[in-house]
Amino acid sequence: METLFTDYLADLYTSVYETVLNPRKRVFFGYILLALIIAGIWLKWREKTRASSIARTLFSPRVWWSNSAKADYKLLLINKAILLAIVPLLITKIALATVIFQQLYELVGSRPLPGSLLPDWAVPVCFTLFLFVLDDFARYFLHMLMHRWPFLWAFHKVHHSARTMTPFTVLRTHPIEGLLFTLRSILVQAVSIGVFLFYFGDQVDLVTVLGVNVAVFIFNVTGSNLRHSHIAIHYWGWLERILISPAQHQIHHSTRVRHFDKNFGAVLALWDWIGGSLHLSEPKTELRFGVSDTVEADEQSLKTLYLRPFQECWHALLGNRHQ
Ligand SMILES: [Zn+2]
Ligand SMILES: [Zn+2]
Repeated sequence: METLFTDYLADLYTSVYETVLNPRKRVFFGYILLALIIAGIWLKWREKTRASSIARTLFSPRVWWSNSAKADYKLLLINKAILLAIVPLLITKIALATVIFQQLYELVGSRPLPGSLLPDWAVPVCFTLFLFVLDDFARYFLHMLMHRWPFLWAFHKVHHSARTMTPFTVLRTHPIEGLLFTLRSILVQAVSIGVFLFYFGDQVDLVTVLGVNVAVFIFNVTGSNLRHSHIAIHYWGWLERILISPAQHQIHHSTRVRHFDKNFGAVLALWDWIGGSLHLSEPKTELRFGVSDTVEADEQSLKTLYLRPFQECWHALLGNRHQ
């Protein structure tokens, strides 16, 4: 029992430092560093901020050390501890991929001959793209459901209750949301692996940089961390219909009613465009972040953030939506 607990603590320690030291994680320090450089260039060339004010704007304690940001850091640590205990109980992507592979075998019958469908070089490219697009769509879809279904919104509100945003706000979620997104990731990977192994066998491989899907890597080195920040980098209109800009995700966090339930996408804006929830950035509009403009005294307390969602979920299930 004692060794179990010590192992758990060791795993927790690894999991926490991996969050910033592993390039597979969104808040890897290298990506944050690049985001800061991109933000600095943006402030200098686009916003014409004086050089002396750039560092003050980027590292403002009003953002990084606000009550909201402090709640982000606490949630990050506590959620790690909770999910580390739950994840081993879940089905693994390999087990699920095996089930999908076997089901395909029963459905389709014989497998194609190796190399008969696509040449060797094309399979890893298709697999990498397929995984990226399916993963991005699944993120969009689950995110949209978390807004549209009141009993899920009760939990997703924790993410939206951030008043200031730093790259770590991406991890400011209720553990129930963390669990749903983990299950989503297992499902997406299992479907991709199961289907591709069935059709292409050992031709399957992932195109990676530093062990990361190359498409995800490009997303991360081009400022993905600025989505959760106070630096409103926007793209050209045509590009914001294809890729979600940092400013568009900030609109997603805005307290203005006209911004509610817009821009659910993670990387691709296409899903929102097709689904009618796309909202282009508004460079001239000053945004306030949160669920509403009314600030409640205890809104950043751990008790409110962890327990209130269960109560609101219960009310929602009884058909009584509490905003
Ligand atoms: Zn949301
Ligand atoms: Zn967000």
